[in-house]
Amino acid sequence: MSSFGRTVDKVRVEVTAKASGKYESGQSGQASKTKTILSKCAPELYSELSKLVKQEIWEIFDCAEPNALACLLDKNADQDIKLANVYFEFARREYEAKPVCKNCALWLEGKLMSGYKIRKEFLPKEVQKEVDLNNNNEFPSLAEAMGKK
Ligand SMILES: [Zn+2]
Repeated sequence: MSSFGRTVDKVRVEVTAKASGKYESGQSGQASKTKTILSKCAPELYSELSKLVKQEIWEIFDCAEPNALACLLDKNADQDIKLANVYFEFARREYEAKPVCKNCALWLEGKLMSGYKIRKEFLPKEVQKEVDLNNNNEFPSLAEAMGKK
């Protein structure tokens, strides 16, 4: 395709969300469907994501990451998947792995090779303490991700 790379929001991005042995891939450009599912399956997270100010030209819910999460929760609604256990892996633009965009960096933390997870600030309040015990401080802070070092 000759126009590849000119309009980032039209480039297909795939992300796999994994938890409890289940995985689903997501695609960018599915904001409407993603919002419908997340508002139902993860209302607290949906509310927090809705408050974020976008750092890219595209919207927060346009990314493959929230779509992958929505698909994972939707297709495994009977599995009680915990948001703290969800990992996001192998975001791909064509065949090249890429780190999360500035929008996703607001609510995801991690590294390209090891995968990303949801920042504890965005997890349900009752699991935040539990997650703190496993925090190894290797991820950039939310302030750093937002460029406010
Ligand atoms: Zn993104």
